[in-house]
Amino acid sequence: MSRGSAGDAAWARPVFHGELMPARVLDGAAVAAAIREELKPGIAAFTARRGRAPALGVVLAGEHPSSEIYVSAKLKAAAEIGCRADLIRLPSTASADEALDAVRSLNESDAHDGILVQSPLPDGMGPDAEKAVFDTIDPAKDVDGFTPINVGRLTQNRATLAPCTPSGIIELLRRSDIEVAGARAVVIGRSDIVGKPMALLLLHQHATVTICHSRTRNLPDVVREGDLVVAAIGRAAFIEAGWVKPGATVVDVGTNRVTDPALVHALFAEGSTRRAVFERRGSLVIGDVHPGAAAVAGALTPVPGGVGPLTIAMLLKNTLLAAEQRLACAASR
Ligand code: NAP
Repeated sequence: MSRGSAGDAAWARPVFHGELMPARVLDGAAVAAAIREELKPGIAAFTARRGRAPALGVVLAGEHPSSEIYVSAKLKAAAEIGCRADLIRLPSTASADEALDAVRSLNESDAHDGILVQSPLPDGMGPDAEKAVFDTIDPAKDVDGFTPINVGRLTQNRATLAPCTPSGIIELLRRSDIEVAGARAVVIGRSDIVGKPMALLLLHQHATVTICHSRTRNLPDVVREGDLVVAAIGRAAFIEAGWVKPGATVVDVGTNRVTDPALVHALFAEGSTRRAVFERRGSLVIGDVHPGAAAVAGALTPVPGGVGPLTIAMLLKNTLLAAEQRLACAASR
C-alpha cells in the first residue's frame, strides 16, 4: 500500500511514538471531482433526450447558518456540472404544513427529478415535522434515500437511491483499493442519515460490522477491533489515537466547528496550517477523530476535504439516476 503525507494532520502531543509511518490520506475531494466528471456525459445525454437538464428541487426552511452553506454548495455543484437546482425558501416562521406543501408541489412537478429537504427544519415546525416531511417525498425523487421505501430497499440490498454520505464513503473505499470484504468494520454512530445506512452498505460489501452508540460499553476496546473505523458522532477529536488498531482505515465523518483556542492548541502544533486557519478565521472545522490517529492508522480521511465533498457528488449522482429512472419509467408507459 502506497503512503503519502499526512498533510495537515500535525498535532501538538502525539500519543504514539512508534516507528509507524503517517497514514495514507484518502483524498475525498479528488474522488468527488472524479465522480462529478464521470456524471457529465450522462447529464448531457439526458438533457439531449429530455430537452431539459436533470433537475433538483431544494427546500430550505429558516436561516440556519450551516444549512445556508450546505445548500449553496449543493446548488453551485449542480450548476457546475449542468444540472438544474431550484431553491424553495421558507421563512423560519413557516409551519410544517407549508413545508409539506412545498414537498407535494415538487412531487407533482414533472420538471423536477429529485427533492432535497435541508435538515434541520426550524424548531417551530414541531418535533414530528422532519419525519412527516421526509415521509412525504416521492420515493422515486428521494435523492437523499431517507424515505421508508428507500430505507427498506437499502436493507434488502436493492437500493438505487442510497443515502449520499455513506454511499460516498463506499465509493472512496472502492476507488482507494481498501479491502472491505471480510474486514472487521466498526461504525460509531447510529443515525438514520449516516451510521445505520453506513453499517448496511458495509454489510452488503461483506464486512463484519459492529455499530456503536452512546450506550456502547468499552468503546475504545470495540474500536480497537476495527480494520475499518467509521466515526459519525459529532464530537470533536473524540476518537483517540490509542483506540485505533495500527494500520486500520479510519473514515472521519464528523464536522465539528470549534472556537475554543485551548482545544485547537491541544490538537494542532504551533506553525501548522490548521492553527494558522484557526488564527485567521477564529474557528476551525474538526473531525470526530483525534489528529494523532494519523500516526497509527494505515489510511484516513481528512476533515475538511474527506467525506464532505463526496456527499455532494453522490447527491448529484442520485439526481441523475432519479432523472434517468423517471425517463425510463415514462418511456415504458
Ligand atoms: P447524530 O444524528 O447526532 O448521531 C450521532 C451518533 O453518535 C448517535 O448515534 C449517538 O449515539 C452517537 N454518539 C454520541 N455520543 C457518543 C459517544 N460518547 N460514544 C459513542 N457514540 C456516541 O449525528 P449524524 O447526523 O449522524 O452526524 C454525525 C457527524 O457527522 C456530525 O458531526 C455531522 O455534522 C457529520 N456529518 C457530516 C456529513 C458530511 O458530509 N461530511 C454528513 C452528515 C453528517 P445515540 O444514538 O446513542 O445517541
